[in-house]
Amino acid sequence: MLGLMQDQPLLISTLIEFSQRHHGESEVVSRRVEGDIHRSNYKQISARSKQVANALDVMGLQFSDRVATLAWNGYRHLELYFGVSGSGRVLHTLNPRLHPDQIVWIANHAEDQVLCFDMSFLPIVQAVHSRCTTIKHFVALCDASRLPADSGIPGLQSYEAWIGAQPQTYSWPSFDENSASSMCYTSGTTGNPKAALYSHRSTLLHALAGALPDSLNMSARDSVLPVVPMFHVNAWGLPYSAAMTGCKLVFPGPAMDGKSIYELIESESVSFAAGVPTVWQMLLSHMQTGGLHFSSLKRTVIGGSACPPAMITAFNDLYGVEVLHAWGMTEMSPLGTVCTLKNKHMDLDADEMMKVRLKQGRGLYGVDMKIIDDNGAELPWDGKAYGDLLVKGPWVIKEYFKGEGASPLVDGWFPTGDVATIDADGYMQITDRSKDVIKSGGEWISSIDVENIAMAHPGVAMAACIGMKHPKWDERPVVVVVKRPDSELTREGLLSFYEGKTAKWQIPDDVIFVDAIPLGGTGKMQKAKLREILSDYRLPVA
Ligand code: AMP
Repeated sequence: MLGLMQDQPLLISTLIEFSQRHHGESEVVSRRVEGDIHRSNYKQISARSKQVANALDVMGLQFSDRVATLAWNGYRHLELYFGVSGSGRVLHTLNPRLHPDQIVWIANHAEDQVLCFDMSFLPIVQAVHSRCTTIKHFVALCDASRLPADSGIPGLQSYEAWIGAQPQTYSWPSFDENSASSMCYTSGTTGNPKAALYSHRSTLLHALAGALPDSLNMSARDSVLPVVPMFHVNAWGLPYSAAMTGCKLVFPGPAMDGKSIYELIESESVSFAAGVPTVWQMLLSHMQTGGLHFSSLKRTVIGGSACPPAMITAFNDLYGVEVLHAWGMTEMSPLGTVCTLKNKHMDLDADEMMKVRLKQGRGLYGVDMKIIDDNGAELPWDGKAYGDLLVKGPWVIKEYFKGEGASPLVDGWFPTGDVATIDADGYMQITDRSKDVIKSGGEWISSIDVENIAMAHPGVAMAACIGMKHPKWDERPVVVVVKRPDSELTREGLLSFYEGKTAKWQIPDDVIFVDAIPLGGTGKMQKAKLREILSDYRLPVA
């Protein structure tokens, strides 16, 4: 017997319809590439996303055709999120931080038909357009008056002229909720990049789970600042969860420096912000230098790389902001775990509570996890045993785009490439990427642990721990450090800082000071590149 409930597919168009009807006046504020602050709301975003849908119809785009973006977080990008997917096309967010050759490869692989780009990326588009063989239409996200007279890009038109000619009404089509809605390529540290192809159903379920109180806890009373880019994993699903809850949205555009972010948080009464540790590091430095405080910010979700304890403490103790540590990956839309406390943790003392907060968190409903040993046997949830982390659920990929049936799954589970522990309460803690784990004398050293201690030193701005070949121990850790400006930190000073904070054999053998640590397109430290740069380095002789 089937249930007697209405059969309505979970489609992205229903999100923007809901928010314009129930939260039409709720604001969408953007710092624009043009430099000014632009104010819109869900009603206007809905009307303009319908103009996008009409404009794509006029271009003759078919169901599932790909529309690419090269854009910062802003209202026009949001309109494309809804207009492209809502009308049945696939939104392909390109990462502007990738090398132009990679962008060409990815756009051709995805068979993008249209490319919509912010004017800051005009030089990239000028460099790549003739090699992007499938793109037929180029749209600059600006007013007609800002379009350069001679861009060299055939048929380039402005977004405002493109959608301005179209009606603001559109009948969103209904179709199978399993249809593709958007795609995102992984950074591809090895081999060519691979794409996760999200569906309407996976996107809506992910957005629902992401908005829950024990996830990101989003509501109509929030003012939400996604600093995480809309060009990578749909800004952790925040645009969708926002439309679902009707919260105010605040977009930073290209200005991600500490001063700009601080000013936006204050002027738009931001209550909740989301970003990777490197961005928050810039914000904290700005605040510490200027002796500033927040008047509205209550919580921030930090993920994408391990959040150093010093950052959690700084946000909490100095500024009264709760840090939610979160973990996920492109292949899982991306949210997997968020670290929110249970009742039993509320009376813990500060040190014990910090130990919980440092973990990457509990699985959301919809994500199942397990850790396995080298033989594939499942390991216990005791917070000690560590092994390869596998996940499954309705917003985890089963295959890559154009994977031709080849499944990355192991017995139905997706191997994340992370090494982790899971404790009896279900809190997962990443010890490392499997390729970054340091093997020393038959024991494993977590590079994240070594980095976290260095990051707690006031003279350290950024730290990366990598393993170096050792004749006796196989590998030994060294820590590569960018000092804070004016810091007089020495090698010996940092090494003695480790004493008493970790087992002696886990203390790095050396400290290497550098001006900068290479960061990838999504703000993660690129350890492979670092190893390359340090290929001539030799460990000090004991
Ligand atoms: P990406 O697919 O580019 O978003 O990268 C996903 C990878 O980032 C994960 O597999 C982890 O290795 C890493 N990652 C994401 N969040 C965290 C976190 N909170 N702590 C440690 N590593 C993280």
